[in-house]
Amino acid sequence: MTCGKWWPAKKRAGYYPCMSSIASTAGIVSFEQARRLVEQHAATVSPGEVETVDLVAGLGRVLAEGILADRDFPPFARAARDGYAVRAADLAEVPARLEVVGEVKAGDWPEPGVCSVGRGQAVGIMTGAPLPAGADAVVMVEYASAALSSHPNVAQNATLGWGTLGRDTLGSDTLGRDTLGEKFVEIRCSVRTGENFVPRGAEALAGQLLLDRGRRLDHAGIAVAASVGKSRVQVFRRPRVAVLSTGDEVVEMDATPGPAQIRNSNSYSLAAQVQNAGGEAVRLGIAPDERGRLRELIEEGLDCDLLLLTGGVSMGKYDLVEQVLGELKAEFYFTGAEIQPGRPVVFGSCGADTPVGAEDGFAANTRTGVSAPHEKYFFGLPGNPVSTMVTFELFVRPMIEALAGQAPQRLIFLRARLKSGIRTKTGLKRFLPAVLSGEFENAEVELARWQGSGDIAALARANCYVVIPPERERIEAGEWVSLLMR
Ligand code: AMP
Ligand code: MG
Repeated sequence: MTCGKWWPAKKRAGYYPCMSSIASTAGIVSFEQARRLVEQHAATVSPGEVETVDLVAGLGRVLAEGILADRDFPPFARAARDGYAVRAADLAEVPARLEVVGEVKAGDWPEPGVCSVGRGQAVGIMTGAPLPAGADAVVMVEYASAALSSHPNVAQNATLGWGTLGRDTLGSDTLGRDTLGEKFVEIRCSVRTGENFVPRGAEALAGQLLLDRGRRLDHAGIAVAASVGKSRVQVFRRPRVAVLSTGDEVVEMDATPGPAQIRNSNSYSLAAQVQNAGGEAVRLGIAPDERGRLRELIEEGLDCDLLLLTGGVSMGKYDLVEQVLGELKAEFYFTGAEIQPGRPVVFGSCGADTPVGAEDGFAANTRTGVSAPHEKYFFGLPGNPVSTMVTFELFVRPMIEALAGQAPQRLIFLRARLKSGIRTKTGLKRFLPAVLSGEFENAEVELARWQGSGDIAALARANCYVVIPPERERIEAGEWVSLLMR
């Protein structure tokens, strides 16, 4: 009998020796090893079927198709400023007086030959309008004086901007040309060729891939899809993720708990996290700390795409999860990670090494090169609510994302300055609930006051975790620390 776990002596007090019959070769691994193992396994899974949804309903879903540009982007040379379309060479010396020969507003099409810019000429142009032929830059209206008229009855005092002298004063034809006299503008600032407009096709050429298959749709992706006319998009089915809480002391939230009972919160926090990661939670309720019923519910959970268990993975006499999974011929990839909170976290699969066509329906392992449609991964998460939430973010999320068809995402920690010093014990990588505050560039982070891994109220007040490397015993105020955002 091999005990796959290791605890510091004082943590061992009150615990029974490992009762498990599982010879776990995986054992306890570092945080980084655990994460890598999950990423490696996640890379072997396949997403479910494809379905078509309305674009906005696709928010948070993973694209099962690439989104291509249906035409050049922008489809015409697009003014990026309100001002005048000019030839940059005409403004080599400033101030320069240009003849205003027309106006293009957004939505207008400047027909070459009818509205184009020749030497010494300018065309009034608005942001989003097509650049007329002949122009090679836009000068901002802020650098132009009001249009001047050669008409004797019109005042000549130029003001910056469009000025008051407009079509109403002078009258104009459809191109904005003065009908009473010629119209001029004085430009006070030169421009470089290409300035203040985006050339046709600069953002993307027709047929170019704008969004990859495997990308999760957010508001920016939705904007891209809308801009190419994709009112419906193909996405992968959300993976079904079974959530099973365990523990004789845990009751459902609408029950009145007895004096030694607590309400089930993990099934609900996990359901929310599953949904947030792109999955669909299937809550299987609460399994008692009793082998038979636990096994039944685990088997039911293995019908889903992924199984999450909470509780029952520590060293207690009634922590039966690993034993029951062992009876189901589970393979364990790790049975603990050197982290706190969440050290007893377990990751494995059922059906990995059973040959194709085996009676129990399990197919062979994808890692052996044979497809394994029935291989089911599971995570045994520690029951302490904060541990459950942290281990989900660190390890479960990448597996759900992969099952949802999403391209692999690297876990990135942000950085902020520590407001007050921290002292911790060495040996484990810690993810401590913390509050990131401040404003703009002056972010600072402080540990939340908490009573340990069961303190849900403290976690709800926190908005991130400070990540403390295993070798650090002290971190002083003002030092930069890593953050896992919540
Ligand atoms: P365990 O991992 O089973 O040893 O549980 C660790 C702690 O988490 C115990 O205090 C449990 O009562 C608590 N716990 C376990 N499951 C849940 C749950 N579903 N909701 C809230 N707390 C739980
Ligand atoms: Mg328990």
